[in-house]
Amino acid sequence: MSILVTRSSMPDFDEYIEEIKEIWDSHWLTNMGPKHKKLQADLKEYLGVENIDLFVNGHMSLELSLQALKMQGEVITTPFTFASTTHAIVRNRLEPVFCDINPDDYTIDVSKIESLITDRTCAIMPVHVYGNICNVEEIQRIADKYGLKVIYDAAHTFGEKYKGKGIGTFGDVSCFSFHATKVFNTIEGGAACFKNPEFGLELYRLKNFGIRGPEVVDAVGANAKMNEFSAAMGICNLRHIDEEIAKRKKVVERYRERLGNVNGIKLSPIQENVQSNYAYFPVVFDENVFGATRNEVCDRLAENDINARKYFYPLTNMFDCFNGKYNVDDTPVALHISQRVLTLPLYADLSLEDVDRICDIILNI
Ligand SMILES: *Cc1c(COP(=O)(O)O)cnc(C)c1O
Repeated sequence: MSILVTRSSMPDFDEYIEEIKEIWDSHWLTNMGPKHKKLQADLKEYLGVENIDLFVNGHMSLELSLQALKMQGEVITTPFTFASTTHAIVRNRLEPVFCDINPDDYTIDVSKIESLITDRTCAIMPVHVYGNICNVEEIQRIADKYGLKVIYDAAHTFGEKYKGKGIGTFGDVSCFSFHATKVFNTIEGGAACFKNPEFGLELYRLKNFGIRGPEVVDAVGANAKMNEFSAAMGICNLRHIDEEIAKRKKVVERYRERLGNVNGIKLSPIQENVQSNYAYFPVVFDENVFGATRNEVCDRLAENDINARKYFYPLTNMFDCFNGKYNVDDTPVALHISQRVLTLPLYADLSLEDVDRICDIILNI
């Protein structure tokens, strides 16, 4: 039986049908209807945030957050992320400035941020990678010192808490993704959590074409509204999220048990003061010690119909669309990790027998 790297969480068919019945009565399919309102309220409580707005996907929440903040100039970010983070910056005609990452948790190396700040820097856009959270305190200290905005790509950290506080409460904005492959999904979807309600109004308008009122359009917005069927999926999935995360935890614990003490295999640290969501299970192979490269491990798993992912490879600063504009040697740690990391299959319903089978294949190489 083939094992994919992830498998979307879904409610029971009947539960979803029940949830969408009202849509047939109301004929309200999109444009911030009752399902959108309910999911927004449910998420506000679950995530422990002050303000939240929903989006058609996580990417648009990032892209429109930068637009709503009216940013200009350079944004300090990392290349060890999904295309979305860097594209959100570039599509706003901002310049990404790539900072290197920590070798242990793969988040932005805060000791290297200040040397990248120029008089054109307007914001820092860090990524909570794999569910590992950034050094939020130090990032805020730097941002305050230089008057910069902080926009977190929190796509991997749905429901996480740091020192008991929802991860969405950090920075000026934190953006979540509710894509089908994420810990919590609305099929496609996303959300921005933010501090300033004025900014929220601006963001709300931008997700609806910049329409202020029936006869006033005063911003060049996009269309990034979440529809009612997606919101209904979210309402259902949110009812089961704690069980889903608990099941993921079991899978991760088994992986850690089996792969935790193997020479040449490095696992992510368990972060202090963090309530994790067990989003991903990245493994870094040191071929000199382990005896096989990441690519060899990936191929061997593929031969057994097991789909692991080279996530994140390539780095975003190596993408073909940038035509060599950025120098990957500026981010040597990110380059090193991207060449050696593999994220192993992980989802709530992955059986422990399958985890054992995956580990056996890796350990027998
Ligand atoms: C999934 C993801 C996004 C984009 O989210 P979508 O909902 O797919 O648009 C952004 N950043 C990271 C790190 C992601 O993993």
